[in-house]
Amino acid sequence: MRPSLLDPLFVPITSLDGVGPKIATMIEKVVPADLSARNARAGDLLFVLPHSVIDRRNRPGIALAAEGAIVTLDVRVDRHQPPPRGNRSVPYRVFVHDDTGEMAVTFFHANAAWLERSLPVGRQVVVSGRMEWFNGRPSMVHPDHIASAEDVDSLPLVEPVYPLTAGLHAKVLRRAIGQALARMPQWPEWQDPEFLRRQTCPDFAGALRRIHNPADPIDVSPEAVAWRRLAYDEILAGQVSLALVRAKVSKRAGRPLIGDGTRIAAIRAALPYRLTASQESALSEIDADMAKPDRMLRLLQGDVGSGKTVVALLAMTRAIEAGGQAALMAPTEILARQHFSTIEPLASKAGLSVAILTGREKGRERTAILQALESGAIDLVVGTHALFQESVQFRDLALAIVDEQHRFGVHQRLAITAKGEAPDMLVMTATPIPRTLVLTAFGDMDVSKLTEKPAGRRPIRTVSLPFDRYEELVGRISDAVAEGQKVYWICPLVEESEEAKLASAEERHAALQSRFGDRVGLVHGRMSGRDKDEVMRAFKEGETRVLVATTVVEVGVDVPDATIIVIEHAERFGLAQLHQLRGRVGRGSKSSTCVLLYKPPLSETATARLSVMRESQDGFRIAEEDLKLRGEGELLGTKQSGTPGFQVARLEFHADLLETARQDARLLLARDPELKSERGQAIRALLYLFGKDEAVRLLRAG
Ligand code: ADP
Ligand code: MG
Repeated sequence: MRPSLLDPLFVPITSLDGVGPKIATMIEKVVPADLSARNARAGDLLFVLPHSVIDRRNRPGIALAAEGAIVTLDVRVDRHQPPPRGNRSVPYRVFVHDDTGEMAVTFFHANAAWLERSLPVGRQVVVSGRMEWFNGRPSMVHPDHIASAEDVDSLPLVEPVYPLTAGLHAKVLRRAIGQALARMPQWPEWQDPEFLRRQTCPDFAGALRRIHNPADPIDVSPEAVAWRRLAYDEILAGQVSLALVRAKVSKRAGRPLIGDGTRIAAIRAALPYRLTASQESALSEIDADMAKPDRMLRLLQGDVGSGKTVVALLAMTRAIEAGGQAALMAPTEILARQHFSTIEPLASKAGLSVAILTGREKGRERTAILQALESGAIDLVVGTHALFQESVQFRDLALAIVDEQHRFGVHQRLAITAKGEAPDMLVMTATPIPRTLVLTAFGDMDVSKLTEKPAGRRPIRTVSLPFDRYEELVGRISDAVAEGQKVYWICPLVEESEEAKLASAEERHAALQSRFGDRVGLVHGRMSGRDKDEVMRAFKEGETRVLVATTVVEVGVDVPDATIIVIEHAERFGLAQLHQLRGRVGRGSKSSTCVLLYKPPLSETATARLSVMRESQDGFRIAEEDLKLRGEGELLGTKQSGTPGFQVARLEFHADLLETARQDARLLLARDPELKSERGQAIRALLYLFGKDEAVRLLRAG
């Protein structure tokens, strides 16, 4: 049960004053990305943090206020000069003075009644805004703030600036955040007192108040104590929840999985290539884990094209030799089918029976597969999310492999392991995750890395090209197609969206069709599975030569003889995604090209991204660069970018807190595995606050 002290914060934001459904929708665009899957709550607003401040502490007096400066002035109101009747183009001026001089406070399309109320003649007021000098006369047009001398304290001298979205007024957002702050209960301290002392941290509420009501610009810096405190809170919440998951998963002891090696030998003999040294060493680490009575929890990290699938197959074969079943789960249907078509011919050489189960297998076919899994007639199943469903039962699931893990959440990982008697678990990811992120996203999983690619791969030539050279590009592609090459053409969205005017895949398809006729295929996420398969098959077999695709091909699709990939609107993709996409080519022995087609002008970050892509093909380096670039606080449209998976913590500033948090979490759970102590109870509130309550539910699930 959620600690009741959180109740005031766990209400929809629409229950805040001044937040109706329309404003709520706008506010939801600025709440940290992780939350956007559900409706925002008041508590989420606490973590909408300012990215900078407007410093209004400069109070020079009228005559000394420099042109263009943001100043705060203590003035007396002398007279109002409304525009002549009927002439709305003349501004409404209010003349004010202080000891140094006189100025006009100017308003266009003013509401006279409001001005008379907020700037009454003869009254002492405070105005804050940008100073303008025109023909030697000072004025302030539309001050940002006006306060009477009595409530000057309400005027934010150091004003936090939040990420905004079109139509959302800064004052509205500030007011909503202010209400969330006011709703905070008396928090119990969930941090270790010793840690707090060493870090000289404010308490949680104090840290939030300091960031939202900064007294100094430094207060809103991620490196300052207040932000670090919140980052540590969040990182600790993450580590505790991972530790809870891990405790739950490894509670049941595993069993040794050892086979006689005959089936593995049969598959190895059937491979048309030799395994790389990396693949061999990853396999021996996996073998060693599986042979142990403990459960395996291992992450297999390998850049795109490094050959993870065959490692997975050999690991699964071992589990089957040992008498169990194995499951391989992929994030998309295309990928599941592709795995199946790679694995099935090899596995059948070793006498294994293999099945595929996705949302598409229905009716009698599905029933037959489910029965065969339950009876053990199927040794190895490849599938999608469909494998998580309750109706899926195994006779004896001994090894579960999850491919491209970042698409699955922790709870899904759990759901599949619950289908066996403590099955071993291998997670494969092609997203090169920097060291620091492995720790946060996976906790203390063991890691095997594929550090080399299969021999004979040629580097991919990467070029960036402005869109006005489209015709030239199509000419080159036409030559390549005439030579029998295969080309991916990636577009960001399926349909033309009004605001973004992105190239739609359908439109591009039509344009290229007029050039290449029926040698152009189109695949996108809204097509039915069968249609997608057919398009992929035609491309694989060479009936089509150009495949226009949305990012459905991003993950893992393998057409080894594709040699060119064009990424349209490359400036809109993140580095990790660009790298994934580029990995679709360069899989065979022919040299390949990646064309990053962009629409100028490029933002600074986009320029940097494209140049990283041109310079490097090392997935790990690209991931580190990615982290750095995101760190520079690019304001991507409306959302403040940060570290994926975090609302507050930014690993480029807070990575040093990870290790401490991990140890802290371990120690905490060693002493108090059920989170029952006073600190444990406080930690529960922390987990809810940062949306890690799934882990709390595990405690109950036992
Ligand atoms: P990823 O790690 O991206 O999932 P895949 O498993 O899809 O990579 O492998 C990419 C391609 O490399 C496939 O066509 C596969 O058959 C091939 N491959 C895998 N291992 C080797 C190897 N040792 N030598 C040559 N080719 C290999
Ligand atoms: Mg793969």
